[in-house]
Amino acid sequence: MKYSDLVEVYEKIESTSKRLEKTFYISELLKKTNEEDISTIILLLRGQLYPDWDKRKIGVASKLVLKAINTASGAGISRIEQLWKEIGDLGLVSEEVIGTKSQATLFSTSLSVAKVFSNLRKLNDMEGMGSVDRKTQLIAELLSSAKPKEAKYIIRTVLEDLRVGIGDGALRDSIVWAYLPIEVNYDPEKISIDVDREEFNKVVGLVQSAYDKSNDFATVALAAIKGEKELGNINLVPGNPIKVMLAQKVATMDEGFEKVGVPAVLEYKYDGFRVQIHKFNNQIKILTRRLEDVTGQFPEVAKYVLKNVEGKNFIIDCEAVGYDPKTKKYMVFQHISQRIRRKYNIEELAKKLPVELNVFDVLYYDGETMLNKTLEERRILLEKIIKEDEFKIILSKKIVTSDKAEATAFYNESVKKGNEGVMLKNLKAPYKPGSRAGSWIKLKSYMDTLDLVVVGAEWGEGKRSGWLTSFTLACVNENGEFLEIGKVGTGVKEKPEEGLSFGELTELLKPHFKQEKGREVTIKPEIVLEIQFEEIQASPTYSSGYALRFPRVKTLRDDRSPDDACTLERIQEEFYKQKKS
Ligand code: AMP
Repeated sequence: MKYSDLVEVYEKIESTSKRLEKTFYISELLKKTNEEDISTIILLLRGQLYPDWDKRKIGVASKLVLKAINTASGAGISRIEQLWKEIGDLGLVSEEVIGTKSQATLFSTSLSVAKVFSNLRKLNDMEGMGSVDRKTQLIAELLSSAKPKEAKYIIRTVLEDLRVGIGDGALRDSIVWAYLPIEVNYDPEKISIDVDREEFNKVVGLVQSAYDKSNDFATVALAAIKGEKELGNINLVPGNPIKVMLAQKVATMDEGFEKVGVPAVLEYKYDGFRVQIHKFNNQIKILTRRLEDVTGQFPEVAKYVLKNVEGKNFIIDCEAVGYDPKTKKYMVFQHISQRIRRKYNIEELAKKLPVELNVFDVLYYDGETMLNKTLEERRILLEKIIKEDEFKIILSKKIVTSDKAEATAFYNESVKKGNEGVMLKNLKAPYKPGSRAGSWIKLKSYMDTLDLVVVGAEWGEGKRSGWLTSFTLACVNENGEFLEIGKVGTGVKEKPEEGLSFGELTELLKPHFKQEKGREVTIKPEIVLEIQFEEIQASPTYSSGYALRFPRVKTLRDDRSPDDACTLERIQEEFYKQKKS
């Protein structure tokens, strides 16, 4: 397929915020894509080079891209820099300078999707001496045969900032429209569809379930072409990360019971961090909630799992909780978060900040997917395969009850032990990867926080110069776009020994800078902060339409990814809840 066909679709999708319209454009593109290009198209549509479960990044700096644009266009570095300052998007800059050049030259070859993909993938594989020059060449080669609009998207893909906005829902539905035997009549005037709803929901469910297991829309699309049976054959693969199930929030025990039904499972809600642990080929892999591989950082956890969990291959879902090795008291997440990032003196840190693994679910066991089993059945299996050893590996503490008084006593006991509250779970519910389905509910003991993404910052002045000091926060909408919701500086410390410091946060954000203008920096959405606040207010100042009153940084959530951030929908819900109360 020609790259220009894809670019045409990018342009159309970028120009609308309506999910159905996006779905229509994508499905039309998929229909005319050859089988050998499908994987590539599915990935490139969202600016990806690897499936969702594969966390490799292109990781090319803006400076290198600038050089490549210059090599291909001959526009001169200073002119390109000037334009970048004015426009703020290197994609648009390259469109402009390649456009100027193209008036003089004729395009000799037309770029194929496969060529673009192949050059971009090579960028990731290159390291060491001379790699900067070779990377510049690979990008420049593409730009030299690109039309201006193509240049725009090549550069945005390289910088991992496509700005097109395709959410999981739109991509999933496009696969349904394009490949499954169901009639979908799309009305472009009304932007609506006419379908047999029941049939439609059934096939959407099939495609979603295939995605839940593979975490890879390309695999799903290729199976969908072959039919429903092939979709049904997709299974979890130990070793390949999958998204974890998430919880909804309630404010009272009554509400919790109402959502999950009775009898309900209640478990301690531990204040640690989520880990998904895979065993395959006698090997252990430990992943955070953002599916980052942290096996190397937690050697003791790998040992516990190998020794205390029976089975050849499995995937279990757990919370790793820090405790004080002397007093054996649980420690809150902030104290142990450094273990996630630490790459040296790991054994020493593990002794100082040990973690206990609290296992609460099993997704796959010895060749069989457990997702569709009930929680009750999954728990029975866990109890069979895990040999508990306190302060190493235990099952999450739980009760099963229909009695509110008993539930409240359990909640009080949990909070007294230093936990965040309780989880209420539907006894009969399946495991739904990546979904905030109502069958898991969290009831917390203190004011709730929001996980928000840093998308901008401001350099400090005076004694704070050299540090970023004010951070622009964003939530995420259903198209995966980041919308601003306010600025925060409070809560970040000047001295590193007091907690997350300006210096540390500045260093973490630096590799993700998009652009600097005076003291203002725009930043790629990568770093997630947990934010406390007093209230959500309606506000025309920020693109989300909301702002936070008295926001304060509680902690860095480096276990969470930007896609995990608080959704606009949730902000809206909170806002209306507040209004009601
Ligand atoms: P929140 O981070 O507030 O959305 O709450 C959900 C998180 O609570 C999960 O992602 C887990 O990391 C954590 N958690 C603690 N205890 C449990 C438990 N027993 N079951 C499920 N999740 C738990």
